[in-house]
Amino acid sequence: MKSLEALVQDASNPEAFHSPAVRYTPQEQEVDRVMTICNGCRYCEGFCAVFPAMTRRLMFEPADIHYMANLCHNCGACLHSCQYAPPHEFAVNVPQAMAKVRAQTYTQYAWPPALGKLYSRNGLTLSIALAAALALFLILAVALKGNLWRTDLAGDFYNLFPHNLLVGMFAPVFLFAILALGLGVRKFWREITPATSGVSVNAPAATEATSSVLTLKYLDGGHGKGCNNEDDAYTLSRRRFHHLTFYGFLLCFAATSLATIYHYVFGWVAPYDLPSLPKVLGVLGGVSLTIGTAGLWHLNRTRHPAHGDQDQKPMDLGFIALLFLISVSGLALWLGRSTPALALLLCLHLGAVMALFATLPYGKFAHGIFRTAALLRHAVEKRQPNPVSPAAD
Ligand code: SF4
Ligand code: SF4
Repeated sequence: MKSLEALVQDASNPEAFHSPAVRYTPQEQEVDRVMTICNGCRYCEGFCAVFPAMTRRLMFEPADIHYMANLCHNCGACLHSCQYAPPHEFAVNVPQAMAKVRAQTYTQYAWPPALGKLYSRNGLTLSIALAAALALFLILAVALKGNLWRTDLAGDFYNLFPHNLLVGMFAPVFLFAILALGLGVRKFWREITPATSGVSVNAPAATEATSSVLTLKYLDGGHGKGCNNEDDAYTLSRRRFHHLTFYGFLLCFAATSLATIYHYVFGWVAPYDLPSLPKVLGVLGGVSLTIGTAGLWHLNRTRHPAHGDQDQKPMDLGFIALLFLISVSGLALWLGRSTPALALLLCLHLGAVMALFATLPYGKFAHGIFRTAALLRHAVEKRQPNPVSPAAD
């Protein structure tokens, strides 16, 4: 292994040891530079999956960099522990370098790419504007029929928007989101697979990656005390609010899926109320999502400015804001279902849901999918002999 000084020298002159055929963006060059320094230091080896992946490489080509950038979840631990962080002349800021490449991968792999670019620059504005525009459109559509504020709906929103109309409105947008996400992650997977041993996924690797995703394993900082947020102190709040958001979203999704089965398989038509299973799942999911997103918003607004990429804040906040709007409007819809406000609340809720579906492939949600793919490749790669130092196995 070279000395740290020699590695720093190499890192400041990447052309000296990379093939000229390999093209790097400025963001990739920065990850290459900091990873070359980290590879000589290795102080942060136990923090997350990025550093064990790093120790399996001497050089970092774009596919390695995209893979490692999506293994990073911007916990900040390596920045607060780093003796070479700014103002040191090496200016090592791993979370920031990784975050910039992550944003690049969302747009590079997004389909269609133009939408990815648009969302990454204007996520918050776009999300809110889209939700408001769609809600307004629905409000106008209902108002033109002269029945926005009415008491004769008997708590049944299908009296306003028939079931088949709702399916016709939402299914194409949802299917488009799934298709766009699927095409994006397939491109990403194809690029990183050869860079991560090329070996196919096996059951132990799949089990480990699933467990890492479901427990948000790496948000414990590698030592169980959590991540950093606004300062050097460890906090588990990011993990807890992520959990509330993640499982809240899954519960809401389960409620909708179950309601679809009730409708099409058993012919049990909505609305469902407590204690029916779709309603129990929906209420629990809505409450969990509301608390989780409120917490994530607060943590994002108070995060140390050196963490991650400030330019991505609108995208992150846009996703959090949409999830919050959906959960709050969904709960309000349930609580206000017997009031004349039902039509208005329904339009607001549907506008937010539609805006979320339309933007799913281009923002933070894509991070969850890309990160899962990267963790799966990591679980496969770590089971292969270490190509750099076989003794490490
Ligand atoms: S982030 Fe800093 S302390 Fe951690 S491995 Fe890299 S150079 Fe070393
Ligand atoms: S910010 Fe956290 S997840 Fe990212 S490389 Fe550093 S320790 Fe790993």
